[in-house]
Amino acid sequence: MHPPAPERHPYENQDPASMPHDMGYGCKMVDGVMHVYTTRNIMEKSTELELPYPDLQEYIADMNMMMALIINGPVKSFCYRRLQYLSSKFQMHILLNEMKELAEQKKVPHRDFYNIRKVDTHIHASSCMNQKHLLRFIKRSMKKYPKEIVHVERGKGQTLMEVFETMNLTAFDLSVDTLDMHAEVMADLEESKYQNVELRLSIYGRSRDEWDKLAQWAVTHQVYSSNVRWLVQVPRLFDVYHTKKQLCNFQEMLENIFAPLFEATVHPGSHPELHLFLQHVVGFDSVDDESKPEQHIFNLDSPLPVNWTEEHNPPYSYYLYYMYANMTVLNHLRRQRGFETLVLRPHCGEAGPIHHLVSGFMLSENISHGLLLRKAPVLQYLYYLAQIGIAMSPLSNNSLFLSYHRNPLPEYLSRGLVVSLSTDDPLQFHFTKEPLMEEYSIAAQVWKLSSCDMCELARNSVLMSGFSQGVKDFWLGPHHTKEGQESNDIRRTNVPDIRVAYRYETMCEELNLITQAIRTDEQETIREEGSLCMGAGQKEK
Ligand SMILES: [Zn+2]
Repeated sequence: MHPPAPERHPYENQDPASMPHDMGYGCKMVDGVMHVYTTRNIMEKSTELELPYPDLQEYIADMNMMMALIINGPVKSFCYRRLQYLSSKFQMHILLNEMKELAEQKKVPHRDFYNIRKVDTHIHASSCMNQKHLLRFIKRSMKKYPKEIVHVERGKGQTLMEVFETMNLTAFDLSVDTLDMHAEVMADLEESKYQNVELRLSIYGRSRDEWDKLAQWAVTHQVYSSNVRWLVQVPRLFDVYHTKKQLCNFQEMLENIFAPLFEATVHPGSHPELHLFLQHVVGFDSVDDESKPEQHIFNLDSPLPVNWTEEHNPPYSYYLYYMYANMTVLNHLRRQRGFETLVLRPHCGEAGPIHHLVSGFMLSENISHGLLLRKAPVLQYLYYLAQIGIAMSPLSNNSLFLSYHRNPLPEYLSRGLVVSLSTDDPLQFHFTKEPLMEEYSIAAQVWKLSSCDMCELARNSVLMSGFSQGVKDFWLGPHHTKEGQESNDIRRTNVPDIRVAYRYETMCEELNLITQAIRTDEQETIREEGSLCMGAGQKEK
């Protein structure tokens, strides 16, 4: 169950000379996407490497096609009915098998909900601690470092002491992105042993050195735990930086985000800390308030990133496309070198327009929130069929967007969507030092989830997480990538085989239904065409 601990600290060897060699490639961003050339001198077009990425025109065409599909009346009612059927079918499954599931779980020695692996699939590093952690941290810092400059306002530094004097003591609006804080949270995680987190750290794309600074912070302070993987969140704040004259056009932002990653991949020794840090980064997140109005609809007439110099922000779909396109090129390159690749796991469908979920469907590995799928049957059915994971945070939703009782999580889960529970911002929403357990516990109470449901949620969280296949082999069993019952090892997951088999059979049935429908549709078209031809032929006679 426990993967072996690394023999050396993963950040120990920082010697650039011992890192993989410099490939000598050159990189240049063209129309918002990085291109790679076999020489540093990129004047010769012939030296460009073939690293394909999704074509812009195709993306827009597919997006429009999907937009038409999700508002098509007959398609909508078909999907709605399938989803209703999936709910009813699950109810039937529970009526028939609840006791059998429970019996299967009881037969497994040692394993219970407490000691199965869970991953908090959506949590922001800046608020990953709870209020008690933070309070303790601030009190300790006050004692130890009262003279430290912690805040700069209008060019003037303030010490921790002064901040507290000028502020009412009840407001703890300080930056807490400091070592001890995370160390404390990580220590708690390691102590609890079965809980893991995928923390979001920010890269803003305002300047070229952000990645190096972040990596230096992680490596210098050895901010690492085997219970933690990092996701990098990029806030969609181009309009703000543009207004402040920090960026001239959108391509500059993309270059700031991606150029250092390409450099560190081509020549790891040129960014040694970043090279090490990237081994623990599993992907990108895209964050901001989705309910902000969007001024622009992404289409073929939209300005290219280098020409995006307007005051307003590019739309969600635009951000996602350019992030994904660059990640695809980067991943080709990293895969060639045997380095870890990155996936896209944006915040999506928490609020705002429904088309965010269309872009999310087309480009994401999995998404966070997905609340609005409850209003979009076609998309919900597609997310089910494609088994795109959804990290849901009902406590966070409850304080921001949707009351707990109306949260669609239990409905999604019953239908077989890949749902996991996550905390989002423990500092705001949770009280204990085990916020993820709090999240599970409340969900179980409010929605009367069975022990089997809880273990299925936990298994989903591991499956959709960015932990390596090797680690997942230990947590879920060595066959977890296979299909159906065979993929499950109840001794590790505590999920009964009956449940896993039910999900698999149900999915096969849905896929069968659709392929069958396509086939009969094709046959009918052929028959129609045939009869038309015959009719025409007969007339000629
Ligand atoms: Zn979030």
